[in-house]
Amino acid sequence: MRMPCTHLESCELFPTFTLHATARIWQIRFCEGDFARCERYKLAVIGKPVPRTLLPNGKSLDLAGAAPAIAAAAPAVAAAAKK
Ligand code: SF4
Repeated sequence: MRMPCTHLESCELFPTFTLHATARIWQIRFCEGDFARCERYKLAVIGKPVPRTLLPNGKSLDLAGAAPAIAAAAPAVAAAAKK
């Protein structure tokens, strides 16, 4: 059984994923799955500031168009999850 990310409560981006159904793949892939590979998590555990717009895959989220950007990135995350 996988453990969820230990930063669910403090992560600024996690609630954004919750608001968009298309972003569920991010939660499955990283937040509830392989969170150790999340670029946000990696920065947080070493005490570095985590940019608000940093996505788990290291790309930057365009907050002006957050929903489309999250949705557009989701297929790539889904494909990576199948590898
Ligand atoms: S985005 Fe990363 S740091 Fe935030 S809750 Fe998900 S896995 Fe954890």
